[in-house]
Amino acid sequence: MRGLIVKLITRLYFVKTDSGIFKCKSRGKLRLDGSEPLVGDEVEISVQEDDEGIIDRILKRRNVLKRPRVANAAGLVIIIAPKPEPDFEFLDRLLIQAEANDIVPIICLNKTDLDAGDALISEVKSRYEATSYPIILISCYENRGLEELKAVLVEGINVFSGQSGVGKSSIINALLPDMTMEVGGLSEKLNRGRHTTRHSELTDMGNGVYICDSPGFSSFEYLGLSSTKLIYHMPDLAKHLGNCRFMNCKHLKEPDCALRAAISEGEINEHRYNSYVRFLAELEAAEKSY
Ligand code: GDP
Ligand code: ZN
Repeated sequence: MRGLIVKLITRLYFVKTDSGIFKCKSRGKLRLDGSEPLVGDEVEISVQEDDEGIIDRILKRRNVLKRPRVANAAGLVIIIAPKPEPDFEFLDRLLIQAEANDIVPIICLNKTDLDAGDALISEVKSRYEATSYPIILISCYENRGLEELKAVLVEGINVFSGQSGVGKSSIINALLPDMTMEVGGLSEKLNRGRHTTRHSELTDMGNGVYICDSPGFSSFEYLGLSSTKLIYHMPDLAKHLGNCRFMNCKHLKEPDCALRAAISEGEINEHRYNSYVRFLAELEAAEKSY
């Protein structure tokens, strides 16, 4: 039978199938291969008795995140706020990494109640509108934007990311329905307190949408992709490709570069272009040092 690992508690995997949740151990052989099942994995299980089973196989993964440790993320909800002040270069790295891992980014600006004169709203819009990523304006304090966020979550697993203090936990708690469902005689809440290693858990939001309840700051300091691919992971820049004078234009100092023309026309945001130039240099330097 096929299922999705929605939770892991000390070596016991909770696998959601069409016939309910099965508590499974992983086949010893799987672990010997070095392929430990992860929350988010699609697996094949053999049912043993009642609601117990064994994980026989992990299906092909779309991606694996380090923090939180989950497989098959489909959406990355990236949260920024007026406080702590956003690090846009870091945000650009995160967006590129999401694209490179086949993850749809969703940009959330939380604590809009603190955004005097909507200054940050304007800044975020001018930087990212051309990417066509959703930009959701939220205030947990004023109960604003949470329904809009729910509406743009993607099918599959949605993971939350952002600097500490931006309001990740507040947003996740506001989205999740009250969790007091009984599992194995212990309430979820009790379980949480009892286990020192807190693993992620997926909550089913309906319609195939899942939320990963443990936020992370997937630290992508190193971009780890080929320099020639970089631009394809910046949709606002990539949509101007194909019109430069030179086929192999890197969009730096070349004459008749359509991208640089688009900046003058106000169609590409200058900060985004600057991130491109910086990341390109970084990736090329890394490639030379091999
Ligand atoms: P996390 O570290 O990203 O998980 O952030 P938390 O959810 O723990 O929130 C950090 C702080 O920001 C807490 O003191 C929250 O009460 C506060 N906070 C969360 N959302 C909002 C909001 O919409 N407006 C304001 N002003 N503060 C918020
Ligand atoms: Zn060019």
